[in-house]
Amino acid sequence: MVVGLAGLRFSAPFRAQLWSCTKPIYDTACKLGHPLVACCLAEPGVGRYHAWIMKTATPLLLLSLVVSGYAQTVASSKEVEAVYPAAHNLYIDLHQTPELSSHETQTAGKLAVRLRSLGYAVTEEVGGTGVVAILNNGAGPTVMLRTELDALPVEEKTGLPYASRVRAKDDSGRDVAVMHACGHDLHMAALVGTADVMAHSKDSWHGTLMLIGQPAEETISGARRMIDDGLFTRFPKPAVGVAFHVGNELPAGQVGITPGIYNTNADSLRITIYGKGGHGAAPQATIDPIVIAARTILALQTIVAREVKPGEMAVVTVGYIRAGAKNNIIPDQAELGLTVRTFKADVRKQVLAAIARITKAEALAGGAPQEPLIEHYEFTDSVYNDPALAQRLRAPLEAAIGKQNVITTEPITPSEDYAFFIEQGVPSLYVSLGGADPQKYAESRNSGTLLPSNHSPYFAPDVDPALHTGIQAEVAVLRNLLNGAAQ
Ligand SMILES: [Zn+2]
Ligand SMILES: [Zn+2]
Repeated sequence: MVVGLAGLRFSAPFRAQLWSCTKPIYDTACKLGHPLVACCLAEPGVGRYHAWIMKTATPLLLLSLVVSGYAQTVASSKEVEAVYPAAHNLYIDLHQTPELSSHETQTAGKLAVRLRSLGYAVTEEVGGTGVVAILNNGAGPTVMLRTELDALPVEEKTGLPYASRVRAKDDSGRDVAVMHACGHDLHMAALVGTADVMAHSKDSWHGTLMLIGQPAEETISGARRMIDDGLFTRFPKPAVGVAFHVGNELPAGQVGITPGIYNTNADSLRITIYGKGGHGAAPQATIDPIVIAARTILALQTIVAREVKPGEMAVVTVGYIRAGAKNNIIPDQAELGLTVRTFKADVRKQVLAAIARITKAEALAGGAPQEPLIEHYEFTDSVYNDPALAQRLRAPLEAAIGKQNVITTEPITPSEDYAFFIEQGVPSLYVSLGGADPQKYAESRNSGTLLPSNHSPYFAPDVDPALHTGIQAEVAVLRNLLNGAAQ
């Protein structure tokens, strides 16, 4: 039997072949929540035509299905351009007015004002300076998008016309330069741009959109403080969470997805080594904590080189040593600041135990009057990207920015306290957002030199393509997650 559609007639074997080739496209359209699919499945009496329509569909019908299915999640360039100037202005403003972790009061206020003006119900001072903005749009899931608010004690050297010149007192009272050297200003601008698109296209999604501005990410403390302050009890608990982070590991215009472990467990240690102070010209009357500290630092390097199984990821970095005030005085104590990064829980345990063992043993060897004090003052688990979510969100991301621009990336070694949200039972996807100038990126690949990393005084994302891509990608992901047909 031959069935006709739109004047075209196909034989049964050809239709079967066509269906086997096009079924993956149809499945993708279903996942994207294409209106025709939703209509076919939802309306009584239409469902029985569904198989007939799909199995006899012409390539044209399928093309229209896919194109309009993508259009369902993809923000049009008109939508993005409508919000872009305000998002870009916000970026420049935030870049020039960075604030240190836990002191993001002006930053939070700017976010709150903009989100409130877009119709979001905004609550401030959640877990310190945290911001929670909710937009209810009928029945459906609650989906969370998170940005960080804080900047770093780094003196900007980018030479950009809008470079930060801000200085502030840090928590220990020291005067420090402040810079958005991790790109959180770009995350905030993208989130506000996305918030704008979503608020003006409520017919494209339904459910509850929950946007959060998290303080103190750089001190891996803000996420926990927001949770302790009722983030998931005073407000709806999200079914899914999403976050983006910009960096120079990818060129602007691309995003990276890492299914499973995305980054590292992070542990911050402060070690105080005790000695006996005295005159620099009479070392025999002292116990020099600087010498003990120096030996300790070198011995700590053997943990990764000699104790951890080759192939396992572990980093032990001594980021600072503080001791002494004058060249001819032997101080009575020395302080070391360490960061420890690992992927696996058992390696983490092994490395932390080795640090304690070596530190105590070196103090003993040096004749220290007391055991060193080891304070484990900051820590977070690695961020785990839900593999099913990573798989699901690939299609809308590819539709939004191009298949070739969605890259599968390796886990990275920096850390993030976003893991605390996941630990609360919020399956999540943490996406890498390309920030490098594409030309400089290509040159650096060719020459083998690395571009400035996050936290560098020279870190400067290529704002226009990175911010455009950020908004495009966020809208696509949120519309997919907030589309009932895709649940
Ligand atoms: Zn950072
Ligand atoms: Zn960051």
